[in-house]
Amino acid sequence: MTASPAEAQVKDPLAPIAGALFREMGVDGVYARSALYEGVIEKLTAFITSHRDPSAEVLRFPPVMSRKQLEKSGYLDSFPNLLGCVCALHGTEAQIRGAAERYKTGGDWTTSLAAADLVLSPAACYPVYPMVAARGAVPAGGLIFDVAADCFRREPSRSLDRLQSFRMREYVRIGTPEEIRAFRDGWMNRAKGFADQLGLPYALDVASDPFFGRVGQMMAVSQVQNALKFELLIPYYPGAKPTACMSFNYHQDHFGEVWGLHTESREHAHTGCVAFGMDRLAVAMFANHGVDLARWPASVRRALAL
Ligand code: ATP
Ligand code: ZN
Ligand code: MG
Repeated sequence: MTASPAEAQVKDPLAPIAGALFREMGVDGVYARSALYEGVIEKLTAFITSHRDPSAEVLRFPPVMSRKQLEKSGYLDSFPNLLGCVCALHGTEAQIRGAAERYKTGGDWTTSLAAADLVLSPAACYPVYPMVAARGAVPAGGLIFDVAADCFRREPSRSLDRLQSFRMREYVRIGTPEEIRAFRDGWMNRAKGFADQLGLPYALDVASDPFFGRVGQMMAVSQVQNALKFELLIPYYPGAKPTACMSFNYHQDHFGEVWGLHTESREHAHTGCVAFGMDRLAVAMFANHGVDLARWPASVRRALAL
């Protein structure tokens, strides 16, 4: 027998902290955030910035991006189930009015929607690659970016670690395979230090993306075999299934090929990114240390300048 939503909530060990962090907005996985929560997000953001490479170019993206660019990136092959597409009412005044009026008479106005040229960004780094490709060859030594976006994934859940709308910060590296590997290995090491400073228990492990469908299962196996993705996994409470709070991704020359991104020696550029799940990290802090900041360990308060 499966538990009713109410029972499941009662049994959720995170339920006691949810009220201090979030306010319901009528949809699972979409929450308003409290001042307490946002304060910690800001401190975590500054903490991550303090470890930024001085040569990084900083870009902050809106929550939407070009539909064409995401299609070309191959997202529909890998995660079509997660994508949110912006739709709008198009047409003449009469057509648009007609659709809107149907709502008032209990009809379905949404059948008149048509896709716009925008999708909701499912990750922060996708817009970087076409932007850089348009600038010409990647200079010797490669490039590094600091990007962030509000991301959307259609995976409704009552779990506080699986939101539909969440924030992602990423450091993105573009260059030679050696440069990407060095970048990723460096960050995997640094991440352990982060978790230590933040007083969070963790494991660093090889991982796969939840590629869609049966073909996707094969893609996931190959991703693990090639060790293309690692995750920093943090349990939210003793015995909890750990949550992936950071990921370390090597895309090989996928984006190089898609966008014609190349080095000065005309080789396809390789790319990699380190993603910080800002909301997952913040919830990890409250779940492990409680909702009273004054009672967080002194070393953690120091690390975050609380
Ligand atoms: P998971 O396997 O848990 O779904 P993922 O492999 O889909 O994670 P990535 O695609 O690597 O995650 O996304 C980068 C980071 O964004 C993750 O490490 C995580 O911290 C965060 N993230 C991903 N999905 C969500 C979500 N639904 N809610 C909150 N944060 C998320
Ligand atoms: Zn990325
Ligand atoms: Mg996922």
